[in-house]
Amino acid sequence: MNEYIRVYSDMAWNKVPIKRGVCKMAKIISGKEVSANVRAQVKKECDELKTKGIAPGLAVIIVGDDPASRVYVNNKKKACADVGFVSEEYALPAETTQEELLKLIDELNNKKEINGILCQLPLPGHLDEKTVINAISPLKDVDAFHPSNVGKIMIGDYHFLPCTPAGVMEMIRTEGIDVNGKNCVVIGRSNIVGKPMAMLLLHENGTVTICHSRTKNLKEICSSADILVAAVGKPRFVTADMVKEGAVVLDVGINRDENGKLCGDVDFASVEPKASYITPVPGGVGPMTIAMLMKNTLKAAKIQNNI
Ligand code: NDP
Repeated sequence: MNEYIRVYSDMAWNKVPIKRGVCKMAKIISGKEVSANVRAQVKKECDELKTKGIAPGLAVIIVGDDPASRVYVNNKKKACADVGFVSEEYALPAETTQEELLKLIDELNNKKEINGILCQLPLPGHLDEKTVINAISPLKDVDAFHPSNVGKIMIGDYHFLPCTPAGVMEMIRTEGIDVNGKNCVVIGRSNIVGKPMAMLLLHENGTVTICHSRTKNLKEICSSADILVAAVGKPRFVTADMVKEGAVVLDVGINRDENGKLCGDVDFASVEPKASYITPVPGGVGPMTIAMLMKNTLKAAKIQNNI
């Protein structure tokens, strides 16, 4: 009987017969499939909560009219509707003052029907992101950006995990990839992705190296990775010569290449034949982020209702 692998190309999943011994192929981890399972579980639990009279609610704040932010906010609203959450959108004009924004956050912190609050970043330049993040109640901080939640992640005692790194971990878990004792390399040290990603791999007993723009011998370090996470923000930055044969390659990047085409931080075409597992862009880590946001919001609703 023929064996098939599902390959993502030209914006569609295609079935390609596996010719074992003829060529090597990585298993492509479908973020669409893994995230659909996460969402289905969230929906099931949401339905159960509703029988107890609890309807999880997420408030999304967007300031200004950044087109990318608008797309993200629309996707989050749609995801809420799909799993059965109440969602409230607060679209504020670009000239909103810090005071006005903080006042809204304060109201939402005290609004019983709202369990999760997120403020879409980046904010217009005159607003201080740090102050805004700090103003969100840690119990409603479903992005897990508040310093209190960041500290909890550090000590491994947390309610919420930041959505993108949590999404990567969910993919690793779903595929049964063992992190224990593995060399893990994370390229990128942002507060949103790189640092928490490294911490989550460490909690799973990986031996973790974090690389950044000042790292020397990046190629050598990456080539030693059993598990390589790219969160750089540069199109096709990770090339085959940076990847060890059989490595697990997880691509967080969302970029546009010189032709305006969506692509990741990994040069998929050259890296895929060397990797054992790889995530595509689009259809990889991206869909996981929103699914994990739904998971965090459900958790927030449970915590706030002592469940
Ligand atoms: P940042 O720009 O905040 O961080 C990028 C990191 O990459 C920095 O730590 C930077 O180092 C490092 N870096 C830059 N150039 C190099 C280099 N030449 N060599 C080694 N390291 C380098 O980006 P984010 O972490 O916010 O996002 C990373 C990517 O992930 C982006 O493409 C973003 O769009 C995407 N993303 C995707 C999400 C999803 O849902 N899939 C969610 C969030 C982000 P230094 O600190 O020294 O400057």
